[in-house]
Amino acid sequence: MKNINRRNFLKFSSALTFASAGLTSNAKAAPNNILSPDRMGVLVDTTHCVGCRNCEWACKTSHGHDAGDIEKYHNREVFKEFRRPKDHSFTVVNEFENPKNELIPINVKYQCMHCDKPACVSACIVGAFQKNEMGQVTWDGGKCIGCRYCMVACPFQIPTFEYEKAIEPNINKCDFCFERTSKGGIPACVEICPVEALMFGPRTELIRVARQRIKRNPERYKNHIYGEKEVGGTSWMYLSSVDASQLKLPKHKDKTAPGVSESIQHGIFAYFVPPLALYAWLGGIMWISKRRKEIIQEVVEEEAK
Ligand code: SF4
Ligand code: SF4
Ligand code: SF4
Repeated sequence: MKNINRRNFLKFSSALTFASAGLTSNAKAAPNNILSPDRMGVLVDTTHCVGCRNCEWACKTSHGHDAGDIEKYHNREVFKEFRRPKDHSFTVVNEFENPKNELIPINVKYQCMHCDKPACVSACIVGAFQKNEMGQVTWDGGKCIGCRYCMVACPFQIPTFEYEKAIEPNINKCDFCFERTSKGGIPACVEICPVEALMFGPRTELIRVARQRIKRNPERYKNHIYGEKEVGGTSWMYLSSVDASQLKLPKHKDKTAPGVSESIQHGIFAYFVPPLALYAWLGGIMWISKRRKEIIQEVVEEEAK
């Protein structure tokens, strides 16, 4: 336990040094616009989705999480409760009543939206989140200091924290299958979807396809591509037969979300708290929460003897 504490302490000390060496200016800066005009996205057509949850299984499998048998994902009992993505479930599918046809429910897959102007990137004071040129928003565990500001900033409540993991917990979220998509591959969920409810392609092309579907079938679709403009645009976008808000896709303005977190950060860094004091405070929070978990673990181990 002593070694672990020391290792955690060293990790944190280097984060402090790194931070105080110049991250104040990072925190003030808006993310650079490095986005490729050809960046990729996914169009989720909720009118096609059959709620098979193969995508959940494929996501877990491709990320080395314990996925179990694919058949068990076809049990629809799970839809009794609304679920959100969590630690080792980067994507989840939910079900809603269909006001237009009570026999055919509406299924909706949720995951990170891979925002074009991601609040998580903007909020992260050590640059652990990154928006990549081709659209993916990724997280670097080597940089993260566990402050969890990204969780507060995300307008879709996506990043989750491994609270159960006492040692070096991760922030988790869909990484747009970076291993695959950065090499020209297809996301695992898109690949397995049996009814083409998920379409992967250049974002501009997906918007064109979505507009065409709405135009050709105005009875089937609401005239709204969710994610085209919300929070400044997202890589993942949705078509639906009902208002997006009825599918628990949060109502957001077109304004970019980072504006909010940036102004908070600017306030903290430029006017209120000297950066070193803030990092020391964050360090205190991290240390206390880690130490609390260690003490619980020690008590459990002691009682098990
Ligand atoms: S949905 Fe949340 S976690 Fe995903 S890119 Fe946007 S702000 Fe970041
Ligand atoms: S893109 Fe990859 S990581 Fe994201 S939900 Fe699909 S399978 Fe999971
Ligand atoms: S695999 Fe496709 S059809 Fe099945 S739940 Fe996922 S998005 Fe819907």
